[in-house]
Formats: sequence, structure tokens, C-alpha cells
Amino acid sequence: MKKTSSFVYDFIVGVGAIVFTAIMVLLFVGEQLLPDERTYTDSYFEDYSDGWVRVYNDGTKRTIKAPGQYEVSAGQELVIEKTIDADSRKTRYVTFNSVKQDIYAYVGGEHRYTFSTKDTRIFGSHSPGLYVFIPIYPEDEGKILQIVFWGNNNYTGVLDKISIGSQVGILLSIYNDERYTLILTLFLIVLGLIAFIIGIIVKVAYNRTLSLSFAGWAVVCAGTWFLAESNCKQIFVPNISLMSYMTYISLMMLSYTMALYFDRLQEGRYRMAYMILEVLELFVLLAGIVLQLLRKSDLSAMLPYAFLSIILSMLIYLITVIPDFIQGKVKDYILEFIGIMVAFVAGVGQMIAYDDKHPITMDAFILTIGLIFMILMSYIRALRDIRKMERDMFAAVQAQNASSAFLTRMSHEMRTPINAILGMNKMILRESKEENILDYARDVNGAGNYLLSIVNEVLDLAKVNAGKFDIDIEDYELMDMIRECYSLIKPRALANRLAFEVDMSDVLPARLRGDKERIIQIITNLLTNAVKYTPEGRIKLSVQGKISGGRLLLMITVSDTGIGIDEDSIPYLFDSFTRVGEFQNQRIEGTGLGLTITKQLVEMMGGTITVESEPGKGTAFTVVIPQEIRTVEPCGTFSMGPNGDRRVVDRNEVFDVLGKILVVDDVAINLRVFSMLLNNTDITVDTAISASEALEKIKRNKYDIIFLDHLMPGMDGIQLKEIIMALPDNPNKDTPFIMQTANAVVGAKEQYEAFGFVDYIAKPIKEEELRKLLRRYMI
Ligand code: ADP
Repeated sequence: MKKTSSFVYDFIVGVGAIVFTAIMVLLFVGEQLLPDERTYTDSYFEDYSDGWVRVYNDGTKRTIKAPGQYEVSAGQELVIEKTIDADSRKTRYVTFNSVKQDIYAYVGGEHRYTFSTKDTRIFGSHSPGLYVFIPIYPEDEGKILQIVFWGNNNYTGVLDKISIGSQVGILLSIYNDERYTLILTLFLIVLGLIAFIIGIIVKVAYNRTLSLSFAGWAVVCAGTWFLAESNCKQIFVPNISLMSYMTYISLMMLSYTMALYFDRLQEGRYRMAYMILEVLELFVLLAGIVLQLLRKSDLSAMLPYAFLSIILSMLIYLITVIPDFIQGKVKDYILEFIGIMVAFVAGVGQMIAYDDKHPITMDAFILTIGLIFMILMSYIRALRDIRKMERDMFAAVQAQNASSAFLTRMSHEMRTPINAILGMNKMILRESKEENILDYARDVNGAGNYLLSIVNEVLDLAKVNAGKFDIDIEDYELMDMIRECYSLIKPRALANRLAFEVDMSDVLPARLRGDKERIIQIITNLLTNAVKYTPEGRIKLSVQGKISGGRLLLMITVSDTGIGIDEDSIPYLFDSFTRVGEFQNQRIEGTGLGLTITKQLVEMMGGTITVESEPGKGTAFTVVIPQEIRTVEPCGTFSMGPNGDRRVVDRNEVFDVLGKILVVDDVAINLRVFSMLLNNTDITVDTAISASEALEKIKRNKYDIIFLDHLMPGMDGIQLKEIIMALPDNPNKDTPFIMQTANAVVGAKEQYEAFGFVDYIAKPIKEEELRKLLRRYMI
């Protein structure tokens, strides 16, 4: 089914394309072969070159031919005349291309017509070439038409073919002469502009520079040159002088852009040669323009340099292609090489054709075709390159996803056994009495915690790379957050004999809204680094802020008096796995991931991170994060407060839950341990040693959690729970029940869940486990 539909689809598209192409070809051929149906009633145009005589200064007259080139000494005029013949038409116009000449026409000795841009051109010393329109009326029959050509250059004696016709007839004939070249030139310019735009898009999207953009630039210059040279310019622009100057400017730009294009193709291997040429070309171009503006010289003086530059660009290219050929490098740009060679041959062909032609018309037809071929080759190469880039990027994304997924899985897998090791080790620390065993256990604890922090960093990095980091917004107390950071780092600073200062503005809003946990992670990452990379002195946490647009820009600076970072390394600091500086030899632990993660976190919250450092003096990282303000009341002076130092050792143990729980167990010591484990907290622990005592308390009090022992004499935890749930007026209908069990096995949780328990806790009760459960079910 799928195959058939794709075949039918291809067939439909294929037939459509063939039909369309056939229609376009027929349209083109038909327009050439079928009769002219245009309704101009006045498109008369015919040759008027015969019967002209040249009048010399001394009055002698000699027959001349148009077109032709005649000797005229500098500053002199070329004067020609002819008797106007009879014609039944109303007004006719004698026309020819003025070749940088001023034209004056007289009929029967009276002035009839002038063409000169003396008063309208903004610069330049002569009029541009254009088709003149000398009006001839019926009553002029038999009178003498005298035309005076004046020029201050060596074009004065150049005579174009002379014609006569109506205005429409003349314009149509000018257009008809050049229409193919004109259409192709416009096509070339459009291709060039599109190429240029594609180049910019690719640069922005992939940060890659396509040679296509330079090819595009070059052909736009060539196209502008052809337009400036075209006889049709008087049909599409009003100020012919200005357009004519584009001949020189675009020709100079053409050689410059060609050099850029060739250099790009050859990947900068011969850059020096091209660069020298480009500098010279730009210099000539700018000097030409400046001299013209100062009226010290004419832009047309640039023409020989422009042609010379084009020849030089081509020469450097042809010479440098030889070593490229020998080294097999041409195959990297073979399509464009063919394109350029075709354009080159077309250019040579054009020059030969030009020689044969009438001296004043430059028809760029052959060269235009060559250049269109050249840019099309460049397009093909660019499309190939873009496809390759797409494929590479896709492959890179796939690889990145795969590696992120692997890192995530691995670090999850690793965390479970590490937690088990640390948990068991804590038991040893708690229960062992032997000093040497305790020593080993402390070492295991230190190394295990470090290992855990590395695994956590890798997991964070994988999450960041996979874009899976979530921002968890909540209201929080600013002071609490800073205290927490302080508590976490203080012991480390103390252990390293570093002073730890906190400089917190007391007017900051007390309550904010944002991702508190992530901000703590950011601050502690920076503080941990400050401790690690500061052998002596102090570290400092500064918390300031300013209000902007209704939000607080929280400004946190972590500074130290440590080893500092040298200037060259700063740009690489935030790259993954990058560690800088000599301390690497000093065995400071680290993965080079902390700052990468920190920066990503800061940016995810719309903030910025900056660093200032001086080697040997210290470093200061400043983070600015916008936070919502919940209350404008000031947070007050920083102090560790009554509970401040309670939250030490490990962030995961931070515990500030308020509530009331009931513990039911038939062993008194267990109840005591339970109470003791929580005696530092704001949790009220109620205990019951028997089912009946439990039922009494449950009827009277509302608890946040009820812990039931599994195995009790007379009635087990499961039965007791059933009785509790059956009690009338039970205030604990929605209270979560947690089972205490001495023989937890895999799947125990599911087993107890089936009896309506939300979770279970293994005996002997571990402090972390208990706290975790309390956090989970009480908040
Ligand atoms: P690491 O795990 O190596 O500490 P980080 O990403 O946290 O990785 O830091 C990257 C590097 O930046 C460090 O290896 C260190 O070279 C440098 N660095 C970070 N903080 C400081 C600091 N406070 N003083 C000096 N160097 C620092």
C-alpha cells in the first residue's frame, strides 16, 4: 500500500514537472515565432544611417558612414549633416547612442535639441551614453539636419548607427536588442541575492560561512555592471549619470568579491596573495570615490585598474589551482572549479565577441550565461554542504542524547549501592566501639560522600545536557536559605582553617519566590570551590540586591583570597570537564563540572554569572538572579539564629518539619529510640506500648503520621489498623500509616500498601530513613 502510494505520488509530481517545463518552453518559443500582436500604433523604427556628410572646420564636406569612428582632435567637435527627406508621418525622432558625448542638433540652422548632463550630474566630467531623441517635424522636409558631437575624451569621434522612429518604436527596439541579456542579468542578480541571503542564514543558524555567499556577492556585482553598461538603463532608471558610474564601482567590487570567493574556496591556503590584492582593490575603489567627490579625478579613470584587478584575481586563482590540483585539494571544490572555469571561458568568449561587434555596445550575454552556470554550481555545493551539516548535527544530537541517557542511568545505578555503603558505614560508626574500626569507617564515610557528590554532579550534568532540569518554584525565607548555605560550608571552612564571612544586606525582602534548592546548589558550589582553591585567608559570601521591574535582582558574590585564575583560563572556566591552573598537580579534588552546572542553573533562572580574579590574590564569582518578592518586610541582620547550626553535615538531612506523630510498639526501648531520634526537632512524638493505649490516643488526637509495629503480641499492625479505620468519629481517617518492620524484603512496600499503609520503615530505625519518610509524608 505504502509502496503504491509513493509510486503514484512520484508519478504525479514527475508528470506535473514535465508538463510545466513543456509549457514554459512552448511559451518561450511561441513568443519568438508568432506574429507581434501588440497594439502600439506608433512603433515605427528604421535605419537612418545613409546619406550623412561630415562638415570640417574649413567648410569642406565628406561623406561618412554610420556607425564608424572618426579622427577628431581633442576639444574639437564632430559635425555631421543630412538633408531631411519627405515623410508623411507627424513627428519623427532621429536617434543614436551618444557615446559620452554632448549632442547639439540644428534644423535649417536653428537650434532644435541638446543632450548634456552638465547641470544634472552630481559628479563626473562628461555625459553618459544614451539614446537621444531629436524631433523632426513634417515641415522640416528639405531642410538640413546638423548634429554636433562634443566630448572631452577620446570618444568624441565615435558614431553609432543612426535610426529614425517614433519614441515607442525607439524604446522597443532598444529593449528588443538586449532583452535576452537583460532577462538573464536580472535572473543572475536574483540568484546572487538569494545566495547571499542563504549565506547569512547558514552563518546565523550553523555558524558556517558558505562560499555560496561570496559567489552570490560577486555575481550581484557583475549583474550591476551589466545593468550599468546596458543601453536599456534609460528605460528603468531616471538618472543615467548615476547608474553609469556603477560601471566602474561594480567592476572594482567584482574583482574584490571574486578574490574573496576564490580565497574561501581554497580555505585560506593562499590568503596572503588574495589579501594583498583585496587591500589594493579596496584602496583603489575608495581612492577613486574620494577623488571623484573632491572632483580631482573621474571615476572612469578607475576602469583600467578594475580590469587589471579582475585579471589579477583570475591569475592568482589559476596559479594557485595548480598546487591544489597536485595535492588533490581541487576535488573539495570541484563543482565550483568547473563553474569558475566555464565562467572564465565565457568571459574570454565575450571579449572575442566584443571585438567583432560595434565598438560601443557591450553585450554581456555569453558572460551572463557563464556566471549563471558558476553560481548554480556553487548552489549545488552549498546544498550538499548544508545536507551534510544537518546530518552531522542530527548525529551529534543523537550521540548527545545517548550519552546523556547513559550517564543518567549509570549515576542512578551507582547511587543506590553508594547509599547502601554509606548507610551501613553509619551503622558501624554508631555501633562500633573499636577505635581503629571507627577510623576506617570515618575514611569510608569521607570517600563515600565524595564519590556520591561526583555521581550527583554527573547526573546533574546529564540532566542539564538533556534539558531535563526542572525549576521548582516555591516561597522561601531568604535568611533561612543563606543560613543553610552557611551551615553547609562552615564546617569545611573551619577544617581548612579559613575565616568565613557573610555580608548580607539587612534590607532585602524577607520572603521571596523562586527555586530555593537550586539557588542553594549554586551558592554552595561556589563556596565549595572557594574553600577548595583557598589555601589560607578567608572566604566571603555577600548577599545584596536591587529591585528592578517589581522583582528582586538577588546579587550573590562569593569571594576568596585563594590561588586565583589566570586571565587566559577564564573563558574556558564554564566548559564541561575543564579544570585550569597549576593546582592540578597539587591534587585538589574535582571533576571540572561544578561551574558548568552552576552556570546552566543560573541561566535557566534568567540570571547571569561573572567572574573576576587575580592569580595569587583571589577570585570573586558574582551571580545575579531575578526573584519574585513575596513580602517587602526586611530580612534583618544575618545571624545563625537559635536553630541555625542544627542543619549541619549533609544538606539532605536538613529538617524543619513541624507536627505530631504516634508510634506504636510493644518494646519500650524502641519507643525511646524513636523519641530520641527526633528530640532535636519540632516534632511531637506520642507513643503507645499496646493496641488499647494506641486506640485511646487515636480517638483523642489528630496525628500527622501513625507508625505501627508489625509484630505485636495479641494483635499485629495490620489488624490494629483495621480496627482503627473502623472506629466511629476517628480524627485520623486521612492520616498516613507507616509500618515498622524488622524483616523488610524486596517488594515489602507493595505488600504493605495492599493493607492500606503508605510506606514502611525497617528496624532498627535509621535516622535518615525516618527523616526522609517524615519529610515525604508530613509536608
Ligand atoms: P572542579 O570540580 O574542578 O572544582 P569546577 O567546574 O567547579 O570544577 O571549576 C572549574 C575550574 O575552575 C576549577 O578546576 C578551577 O580551576 C577553577 N576555579 C573554580 N573556582 C575557583 C576559585 N574560587 N579559585 C580558583 N580557581 C577556581
